[in-house]
Amino acid sequence: MHELSIVQDLLKVCDTNATEQGASSVKRVEIQIGKLSGVEPHYLKKAFDAFKVGGHCSDAELIIEIQDIIVRCCQCGREGTIMANEFVCPMCGSRELVVIKGEDLVLMRLELEK
Ligand SMILES: [Zn+2]
Repeated sequence: MHELSIVQDLLKVCDTNATEQGASSVKRVEIQIGKLSGVEPHYLKKAFDAFKVGGHCSDAELIIEIQDIIVRCCQCGREGTIMANEFVCPMCGSRELVVIKGEDLVLMRLELEK
C-alpha cells in the first residue's frame, strides 16, 4: 500500500522536526494532497493513526487539505484548475498541459508542544 510508506516518511519528518525544536510532542500535522498524487486521504489518515503510536505524533491530529489540479496550457498560456478526468485546456482545447500544482503531497504545517 502506497499510503503506508508515505505515512512512515511523514512521521519521520515530524519526529526529526520535533527533536530539532526540542518539542515534547506534535499536536497537529497539516498536509496538502494533490488530486493527482494518487494518495487516498482516507487510507492515509488510517495509516497515520495506526503508525503514530509511540512517537512524537502519538496524540497528533492529521489535517488533510486537498489541492486541486492546476495546469498551464502550452498553446494559449492559460493557467487554472482542471478536473482530473478532462486533461484539456478549456480555453483552446489543447492537450499540451503542464501540471503546476496537484501532483504532490506537501507538509504544510506542524504544531509542536514544548
Ligand atoms: Zn489553451
